[in-house]
Amino acid sequence: MPALNKNNSAVKRIMQEARELANDPSTDYTASPLEDDIFEWHCTLRGSPGTEFEGGLYHFRILLPAEYPFRPPSIMMLTPSGRFELNTKICISFTNYHEELWQPAWGVRTAIIGLQGFFPLKGQAAVGVGSIEYPAAERRRLAVLSREWICPHCERSNLDLLPDVHAAPSGQSEEQPPTDETLHTSVAPSPDPIPEEVAEERLVAAPKASARRPPVVLDGAICVVFVLLFALLCRRVF
Ligand SMILES: [Zn+2]
Repeated sequence: MPALNKNNSAVKRIMQEARELANDPSTDYTASPLEDDIFEWHCTLRGSPGTEFEGGLYHFRILLPAEYPFRPPSIMMLTPSGRFELNTKICISFTNYHEELWQPAWGVRTAIIGLQGFFPLKGQAAVGVGSIEYPAAERRRLAVLSREWICPHCERSNLDLLPDVHAAPSGQSEEQPPTDETLHTSVAPSPDPIPEEVAEERLVAAPKASARRPPVVLDGAICVVFVLLFALLCRRVF
């Protein structure tokens, strides 16, 4: 089968993209191939802030052709958004509806980011196969519902797949920075003073050292005195 070689190169490329996405994840989307079919990815995308999709999480399929990356992927929305029809291949510039626009250097990440940019488009720019134009209020209602939407295949909710990192860290960040500062302030100076026990040891050690020094000085003085006395005795004797 001549297609097998292409499949192998496609598999290599897809695995490389999966690794790249896993090693460099985004807070705006998460995507990974299905365990039983590397040519089908399931992705969750966060609705862009400042749009009627803000707060929404949208799950969709990315279908990669056997000739990937030489032919573009297809995207099928699974979560109701009021922006795209469900289970319909979406017509956007990088999908198989516009093969001539696809470039092999692009990848799954490009497709996701492209879809993200397509979400808020309105009017003529938003028209295309798979596009629908629900009222903003309905889109906002669907955005709220989308968070708990569960993919039948992934068996996980969108919120579980793409946790709301913006809310959690900002809530913790109010508490974390002080702890960081306290950590820094406690860590930075600590190398010199170190813990109190060590400081106490140093304080204890210092007096010991100073206590030992006087005897040494005294010993030296006594030696000098003895030497002088010996010298005097020698002069008198000789
Ligand atoms: Zn899924």
